[in-house]
Amino acid sequence: MAEVSSEANYVPHHKKKIAFVFSAMRHFAAALSQNGWNVRYVKLDAPANTGSLSGELSRALDQLDVASVIYTEASEYRVTEEISDWANKKNVSLEVLSDDRFICSHQEFEEWADGRKQLRMEFFYRLIRRKTGLLMNGDQPEGGQWNFDKENRKPASETLSMQRPYSTEPDKITEEVLELVEKHFPNNFGESRPFWFAVTREGALEALDTFIAHALPSFGDFQDAMLDGEPFLFHSVLAQYMNVGLLDPLEVCRRAEAEWYSGAAPINAVEGYIRQIAGWREYVRGIYWLKMPEYTDQNFLEAKRPLPEFYWTGKTEMACVRSAIKQTREEAYAHHIQRLMVTGNFAMLAGIDPKQVHEWYLAVYADAYEWVEAPNVIGMSQFADGGVLASKPYASSGNYINKMSNHCRSCRFKVKEKIGPNACPFNSLYWDFLIRNQEKLVSNPRLGNAYRTWAKMSEEKRSAYLDDAQLILKQL
Ligand code: FAD
Ligand code: SF4
Repeated sequence: MAEVSSEANYVPHHKKKIAFVFSAMRHFAAALSQNGWNVRYVKLDAPANTGSLSGELSRALDQLDVASVIYTEASEYRVTEEISDWANKKNVSLEVLSDDRFICSHQEFEEWADGRKQLRMEFFYRLIRRKTGLLMNGDQPEGGQWNFDKENRKPASETLSMQRPYSTEPDKITEEVLELVEKHFPNNFGESRPFWFAVTREGALEALDTFIAHALPSFGDFQDAMLDGEPFLFHSVLAQYMNVGLLDPLEVCRRAEAEWYSGAAPINAVEGYIRQIAGWREYVRGIYWLKMPEYTDQNFLEAKRPLPEFYWTGKTEMACVRSAIKQTREEAYAHHIQRLMVTGNFAMLAGIDPKQVHEWYLAVYADAYEWVEAPNVIGMSQFADGGVLASKPYASSGNYINKMSNHCRSCRFKVKEKIGPNACPFNSLYWDFLIRNQEKLVSNPRLGNAYRTWAKMSEEKRSAYLDDAQLILKQL
């Protein structure tokens, strides 16, 4: 195992994310050694460390008596390329194992996708439900429906009581890693402390227990809600553990499923939660491998504006964006709706270059790896793939944020004002986005209502929206 700077540096990862990955690696290596495995572990600051995976593989090959190299398939395209390049040069025998952090194999996904005009998650999800038997009663979904999403759109009130996700104090290994991160990545985004993530299998299982006991029953109801000062609400904060292999996605789904059968959690919460993992997580990974290497270069809407500085500093007057970025800096975490409908929505409405948006998301979240981040950003959030993943752009005015959060109450902008210096910037940018991209989007049946509303507006109102939007865009 090797901590290599090329992996730590290819985007300026959040400090907490680097600390999490290195600490989890060191704990895993220690556990393997204790169990009698012979582990060769190269720390980031080891003098001989070459700084790349290929370099470290070559060095191991030169120093050890190696008959063959057996490795687990890489989860990112970039790393697959690097390893096959290296193998070609070295002329070494390679055995590749499939990645057991997923329920669906590449082959199963390709077979499902083959010949389909549209690759919609909902139909893929049914395949996985049938394959695993998750929430199935024979061939029928439990509760009589595949999807209970309609019940999962409640706003949250400040009076709701919620428990923070599982947290743990750094041990000696984690302390060493935190020092290493501060020394080698002092200018990276985010705060390394307080560091509270689990870094072992045992810790991740406790985090799962905590979520199941305290948050799962309300997960569905408040899945889309946002509250100032409540970064986690009823979300599980388990993605980072599943993505590095400390938790198995199917075991997490089975634990949630058992809660419904025992009557401890309602169907809308349990089905909604299982859909995120057995549906979305598997589906985006399938799309990634189906569409790479071109996928991350997609720019269907030809958006070219550079990423505004406030994505790094959080210095913006928009309360919703400020809140999402503040907690991202502190926790390397924001939940799905913040990523999609606040920072993602703003970037798309403002016409930010999707590649820059993609690199930002890849850097700032503890759970971010390209196989999961890129389809969510390029496809779902920026519509840069032209609709492979989403049937319409997730574009919205300030109205949606106001409905689902309490941010607007403390914002210097007025969400109900449509035009003028105090109007919520999302309002004019929404129309500007639709008009700027009219040629490409007007035939989308799901945007028909929006374009009809625009057509009914007075010429004066339309010009005011577009003029306001230009002012905002200039200030970016
Ligand atoms: P919960 O809300 O508790 O959801 C449960 C689990 O479902 C998550 O842990 C995750 O494993 C899975 N999940 C939920 N939604 C998705 C989804 N759309 N795609 C894949 N898995 C999903 N997720 C990542 O793991 N890494 C990323 O880099 C990432 N980038 C994203 C970028 C954008 C723009 C958007 C809109 C979403 C992104 N997601 C990403 C998906 C989702 O936002 C996170 O998985 C989730 O917020 C993680 O927090 P949680 O564990 O509390 O999730
Ligand atoms: Fe965000 Fe607009 Fe509400 Fe301010 S008024 S919090 S910018 S949606």
